[in-house]
Amino acid sequence: MSDQREQYLEALGIPLWKLKAAPPTIVQPADTVAPLEVVATHLVAGAATAPAAMGWDELAAAVSVCTKCALHATRTQTVFGVGRRNADLLVIGEAPGADEDRQGEPFVGRAGQLLNSMLRAIGLPRSEVYIANILKCRPPNNRDPQPDEAGTCTPYLARQIALVNPRAVLAVGRIAAQWLLQTDAPIGRLRGRVVPYGEAGTPLVVTYHPAYLLRSPLAKATAWTDLCLVKDLLRKPQ
Ligand code: URA
Repeated sequence: MSDQREQYLEALGIPLWKLKAAPPTIVQPADTVAPLEVVATHLVAGAATAPAAMGWDELAAAVSVCTKCALHATRTQTVFGVGRRNADLLVIGEAPGADEDRQGEPFVGRAGQLLNSMLRAIGLPRSEVYIANILKCRPPNNRDPQPDEAGTCTPYLARQIALVNPRAVLAVGRIAAQWLLQTDAPIGRLRGRVVPYGEAGTPLVVTYHPAYLLRSPLAKATAWTDLCLVKDLLRKPQ
């Protein structure tokens, strides 16, 4: 392991001896998870078609003026997504917080700093990945997204997923994981394996939200095994 990587892992608070453990096993569940377009169409009739035909600029413009749910009334601005539009890795979080609402970019607060370190630890600078959220607007007081808000916003995310066409998806946190996989299983059961996602069967890995890792640093070692899964996926020949 390079000195630089060791420094990143130490910055994450991950004890290096844990890295000597055997690589995590990739478990392929029997069923592919339904594509988000299908999920969204069930939730908001007619809302899935327009974004599905949009290119990047049109999509970003549509999001920036969106008033499809009540969150538009309390946002400072929308938070579309950031990064490499043809990235190998797409990171999907929950929703903008106060910092993101102010700056218009996902994961720019303390959790975002930790996410950056986690990505660097697997050799991916933030600029090399694409980062988006389930919701493009901040829920008041950072409350959990409501299913109708997530359903209304999902056509935008579904189009981002289709446009990026990543080699792997990393879902961070319970809310993102449960929404993407349309399950109420606890995150402890969703993380630690690779799930084929959507029509393309894109490999999806779930891990803990960096905000949770800030509160529970001991879980960083477990999150590291999830990151190793992602790293292995991206190493595979295409
Ligand atoms: N948490 C998220 O899930 N997304 C952000 O953009 C910021 C914090």
